[in-house]
Amino acid sequence: MLAAIPSATLLGVRGHPVRVEVHVGNGLPSFTVVGLPDASCREARDRVRAAVASAGLDWPQTRIVVNLAPTDVPKSGSGLDLPIALGVLVANGQIQPESVAGAAFVGELGLDGTIRPVVGIVPLVDAMGDAIPVVSPADLGEARMVCAAARSVATLRELVSVLKGNSPWPDHQPPPPAAQQDQVPDLSDVRGHRLVRRSIEVAAAGGHHLLMTGPPGAGKTMLAERLPGILPDLDRSTALEVARVRSAVGESDRGEGLVVRPPFRSPHHTASLVALIGGGSSQLRPGEISRASGGVLFLDELGEFPASHLDALRQPLESGVVRVARAGISAELPAAFLLVAATNPCPCGSGRWGSCRCSPAQVARYMRRLSGPLLDRFDLRSAVEPPDANEVFGTQSVQAESSEVVRARVAAARDRAVLRGVSSNRRLRGSQLEKWAPLRHDARTLLRELLATGHLTVRGAERVRAVALTLADLTDVSAPLSGELIESALLLRATDSTTGATA
Ligand SMILES: [Zn+2]
Repeated sequence: MLAAIPSATLLGVRGHPVRVEVHVGNGLPSFTVVGLPDASCREARDRVRAAVASAGLDWPQTRIVVNLAPTDVPKSGSGLDLPIALGVLVANGQIQPESVAGAAFVGELGLDGTIRPVVGIVPLVDAMGDAIPVVSPADLGEARMVCAAARSVATLRELVSVLKGNSPWPDHQPPPPAAQQDQVPDLSDVRGHRLVRRSIEVAAAGGHHLLMTGPPGAGKTMLAERLPGILPDLDRSTALEVARVRSAVGESDRGEGLVVRPPFRSPHHTASLVALIGGGSSQLRPGEISRASGGVLFLDELGEFPASHLDALRQPLESGVVRVARAGISAELPAAFLLVAATNPCPCGSGRWGSCRCSPAQVARYMRRLSGPLLDRFDLRSAVEPPDANEVFGTQSVQAESSEVVRARVAAARDRAVLRGVSSNRRLRGSQLEKWAPLRHDARTLLRELLATGHLTVRGAERVRAVALTLADLTDVSAPLSGELIESALLLRATDSTTGATA
């Protein structure tokens, strides 16, 4: 009178294997679920009983205990409805245990016995190992991203009929993946902005975080939106990571297959800390920084974000992951994003001598809101001015390079970084930089002077060296790095007076 059905539960963006153990014993009719179920998971008992009755099957009028093992992992959501129902049917002998061997089940049950989709199918199926996943028809497309052998059934009655050998597995097909179109706007629409275009290309090629400073309407957002378009396609493991996050927030478009274009997220400065970083009171949910992982996080009006939000960004910026916790449970979520931020040069937004109405104290206070340690994470800082009229309409107006052309250079630079054992040059540290970015005599002298005079910190000097290496990669120059390259990298780090000078 005992049954065990394999399934999985979601924690953050990871699935964890669960064994649903059901014991049907003697005693007064009762139904207990133990093993850290959350509220939605506890409600399974009402849904499951109704679904079993609707499927025309017997509900045992005795004592039923459901144990969700392992008992130290919290179980959330309604995906365990289906394995619980099967466990009850196996435990009271309506289905043979052999018929469920080798399979794992996840799905919500409707009161009429339909099997409904659940969030997080990609990580859930990931956690099922070698077992053949059985899911709702709506979840089949996501399940097959991870396991081509995945199966689906529409109702509990249909599933029982299949398991009893009365009918074959239904032949549901996920909708064919629609051709993925690059919806990202193209760089060729951008007139002028020669220097910022350069910064964006360097940011994409080396994974260097970028801060743009300029008055409203100068084109900061327009430029940032074009950055994902020049990033290369995601490799399979990163694409799966992106799929896990999208699946865990219930955002997967079921017909689109595995998405290989990098994500772009631009949360507003009024977003809550949980929405930005992740976490939550009832369930650990990925935040914007995890949804941007593998792609670009764009923070417009950086100075308007609360200091607590900006402080919380520092650790993920270093490590590429974020730990979130609630009530004794913690989960590690991916947060390997390229940060692009934009800010006005001063509170009035003009930032120009003559038209700015701000006092020096106001400007100083405004810039102080961007904490020093966060500013230090930006390897590239670019002043964005509205483009020159000549560049837009004049004789100098030439067709700008398209995103595709730039993306080819970026991809070649990223390939070089991979040969160095990192995903991008920004990840190179001390001894790796010594090895891969050796300096010519003039470059070494220049960096030593800037360190000695306090114009650069040790960390800043490292960053400048990494950017110079990216510049060399983009122009196909081989190491050792020249003083000229270091100067170019310094120029990209501080091209504006308000945020630059003391790197
Ligand atoms: Zn001003």
